[in-house]
Amino acid sequence: MKKRHATQKLFIIFLTILLLCLSSVCQAKSIALSFDDGLDPRNQPMACSWNSSILEALLKAQIKSILFPAGKRIDTPAGFKLVKDWGKAGHLIGSHTYSHFNYCSKQVTLEQFIADTERNEALLKDLPGWTKRLRFPYLKEGETAAKRDRFRSWLTNHGYESGAVSIDASDWYYNKRYLEWCKNHPGEDLSTFRSAYLNHLWNRTTYYDALSEEVLNRSVKHVILLHTNAINAAFLPDIIEMYKSNGWKIISPEEAYEDPVYTMKLTTLPAGEGILWSLAKQQGISGLRYPAESDKYEKTLLDKLGL
Ligand SMILES: [Zn+2]
Repeated sequence: MKKRHATQKLFIIFLTILLLCLSSVCQAKSIALSFDDGLDPRNQPMACSWNSSILEALLKAQIKSILFPAGKRIDTPAGFKLVKDWGKAGHLIGSHTYSHFNYCSKQVTLEQFIADTERNEALLKDLPGWTKRLRFPYLKEGETAAKRDRFRSWLTNHGYESGAVSIDASDWYYNKRYLEWCKNHPGEDLSTFRSAYLNHLWNRTTYYDALSEEVLNRSVKHVILLHTNAINAAFLPDIIEMYKSNGWKIISPEEAYEDPVYTMKLTTLPAGEGILWSLAKQQGISGLRYPAESDKYEKTLLDKLGL
């Protein structure tokens, strides 16, 4: 009888541990990696090598991602091939428009922006992985309600879905500093730069995740905006490892975009930016830093580190 009791007790403990493990898996924070722009072999001699490094890191980690190419950068046989490599590797290809216009500029009309989106679709639509998902250049979605809403209607009528982001980490600024640093420190150990970049991405990730809790009372399925550039070619395996070691799950873009946050039609003007940032702005949350001003926030730190 005593033995039976002990077995039952052990079983209950085992079951409790199992349930705790399962619930922590279910609650794991999640993120999809997305990459903008595409590479231009005409003015980026390392384009092919950077593209391969990014794709290798994704393959090794068994991660599916999405690339949002801007046609003007990749509209050469060599550039187009690099995009095709993404599709052939099982990643999605969305649209970042052809000319990378800023839709919040008064000089860019609705008609122009539609024509530019159609031009990019014509270029990319036969590629493996093509998907009608639009990432606005600079995350700018229109400076007036009319421009914003009329293009939103056009997108819906033409079967486009949102390519919004929840984490805007300004990797482009770190990339700029990284390229300068590499030029001035050939052959030097990259570990200090790697740490600074990972710290930055982690800082932005935890910031936007906290913002998600604040505005929605939950952690959304995140989508981070990265670029096809040198710094991600160098450190993508470390970025992936950073998320995993912090207990985050890296998910596919399809899974992330199932989160209803990405279909919210926000009313902020000028429209755009990251979806959580925009939502926080709509809710009147104060103290939001403007994500695109990386020089303002990161320069002092990188200068201090000698990077
Ligand atoms: Zn872009």
